[in-house]
Amino acid sequence: MKLKDKVTVVTGGNSGIGFGIAEALKNEGAVGVITGRNRETLDQSVKHLGNSFIGLQGDVTKLDDLERIFKTTFDHFGKIEVLVVNAGGVADGAKMGAITEVEEKDYDHYMDLNLKSLYFTVQRALPFMKDGASIVLIGSSAAHRAAPGMAIYSAAKAAVISLAKGISLDLIARKIRVNVLSPGTIDTPVFSKLVSQEEVDHVKRLWVNLIPAGRIGQPSDIGKAAVFLASDDSSFILGSEILADGGMTNIS
Ligand code: NDP
Repeated sequence: MKLKDKVTVVTGGNSGIGFGIAEALKNEGAVGVITGRNRETLDQSVKHLGNSFIGLQGDVTKLDDLERIFKTTFDHFGKIEVLVVNAGGVADGAKMGAITEVEEKDYDHYMDLNLKSLYFTVQRALPFMKDGASIVLIGSSAAHRAAPGMAIYSAAKAAVISLAKGISLDLIARKIRVNVLSPGTIDTPVFSKLVSQEEVDHVKRLWVNLIPAGRIGQPSDIGKAAVFLASDDSSFILGSEILADGGMTNIS
């Protein structure tokens, strides 16, 4: 087991990619915390994880919530050795669209969730993290490729790559590694947040045509890469990005 008894926090671990990551980490022996705003899905996910993880509720765009989450984790487990900053994606109530359609509040909401919250999640976790810990920021292949109506999200995710480099340097004395794991198109509830239920299958087929691997990714694909970045197997990798996108960015 690569992560035996490693105390881990996965933000947004109650859904989609975050849950896939928590499951993969747990299968390698990790314990710890998953977070999310929705109590019901948190409880369901904790149950699916065989109670190796506890679920802490909170909004990652609120600093008080972040502080409470990390303090509670520390009180419960006494340390934090792996942090996966995954919560993000669709900002509830904000419009994602072309530059002619988006208002300032939509811009702020997307940036708050997909960039600012990552920075402050790391900052608020640091006092509780062990030296030598691994931090994985979840980026997106959207950082590298334009998609209709996604300029703000893409820009936020591109900035996450710079953030990882800068924070890695900030934390070099503590030997805390910070890397970005950028998924391509992954089968999660995000599809039904973006298009109507009737359109989901059609949109997935369109995406498959763009993916050289010939399939949409699964949360477990991202989980496996997260295990690598969380473990000592990646001890020489810092301030870097791994793309897990079925080849979509580089060879399609
Ligand atoms: P989901 O919508 O399934 O999951 C999003 C997760 O983030 C949920 O657990 C949600 O929990 C949590 N979350 C969202 N907003 C907040 C908030 N304000 N405070 C706390 N938690 C929040 O999406 P995915 O699993 O698809 O996405 C996960 C990550 O992967 C995101 O960062 C996304 O940008 C990235 N990604 C996804 C891709 C995909 O194709 N699916 C592709 C590339 C990147 P709750 O609602 O309970 O708060």
